Amino acid sequence: MTDRSATRDEQLRRQLGVVEDEIAAACAAAGRSREDLTLVAITKTYPASDVASLAALGITDVGENRHPEARDKREELETILPEGVTMPRLHFVGGLQTNKAGQVARYADVVQSVDRVKLARSLSRGAESAEREIELLVQVDFGGDDAGRAGAEPADVPGLADAIADLPGLRLRGVMTVAPLGADPAPSFEHLARIADRLRQDHPAADIVSAGMSGDFAAAIAHGATHLRIGRSILGERRSLQ
Ligand SMILES: *Cc1c(COP(=O)(O)O)cnc(C)c1O
Repeated sequence: MTDRSATRDEQLRRQLGVVEDEIAAACAAAGRSREDLTLVAITKTYPASDVASLAALGITDVGENRHPEARDKREELETILPEGVTMPRLHFVGGLQTNKAGQVARYADVVQSVDRVKLARSLSRGAESAEREIELLVQVDFGGDDAGRAGAEPADVPGLADAIADLPGLRLRGVMTVAPLGADPAPSFEHLARIADRLRQDHPAADIVSAGMSGDFAAAIAHGATHLRIGRSILGERRSLQ
């Protein structure tokens, strides 16, 4: 191992340790158990070698937001993952064009950013032709009048969820949100938790609530998140804005 990668390994270990301490503190404050949470390390813009290091440190789930970056990194990871280290599950968390969905369905384990039926149909066709089953979350937007944002309106969630549940190759697993930038995230996380509760009445297996990023994961833990998507706090600030 070169000095440089040893240094990076050490840095990732340290930063992951800090994040785990903060998660533990937020769990204690909320009276929740760490085992009820899954940490999804968002590795976008960082190399496959970092993903391999995180997997060796025990990270079971990673997230990416772009195709083909996500695919290329996964292919490289298959060749560099140390023996005995489990391949982390891959969550696709970014905006997705319908015409690229079929390709993403070939390698993603979970697609968290489904906000329209057309996209779900494309993912279904892709999963079927690859003879795979993929898990889907409905992305919900609480940005209100800011029309350019990704995510389904809260009122559209039940219909979209029913459509996903009926499509072959897909398993409806829950909901996801990105809290509106610059606002208190708590109301969005509370609203997401209520939507998730209602969804589970019709779809008991839809038990994932994906909420919380580097800046707001303690609030997400307080409001019932089951999956945290944390990038910068573990891997460092990204160079490009995304
Ligand atoms: C980048 C990203 C994250 C992680 O954000 P950080 O601020 O780096 O923790 C989480 N969710 C989505 C959808 C993202 O695109």
